[in-house]
Amino acid sequence: MNSQEHSASGNPQPTSREEATEALSSTHVTHVREDVAMAGRCANVHLPTGRTCSLPVRHPGSCNFVGPEDANNLAAH
Ligand SMILES: [Zn+2]
Repeated sequence: MNSQEHSASGNPQPTSREEATEALSSTHVTHVREDVAMAGRCANVHLPTGRTCSLPVRHPGSCNFVGPEDANNLAAH
């Protein structure tokens, strides 16, 4: 006999730590990834997609957003 008892003790709680920290500094519409900005990059974050601008800081023109993995490579370690 298979007696599979699933204990219903675990409540699925969506972790929303990011929102909590964002709310503290809601004066800016744009968000900048600090570790990427430290590396001299624009580091503007496109919030809807979560991508980060890989171009140098104060670059002319529009941002070139890259995925998280590329952004990690740009970040100062
Ligand atoms: Zn940019």
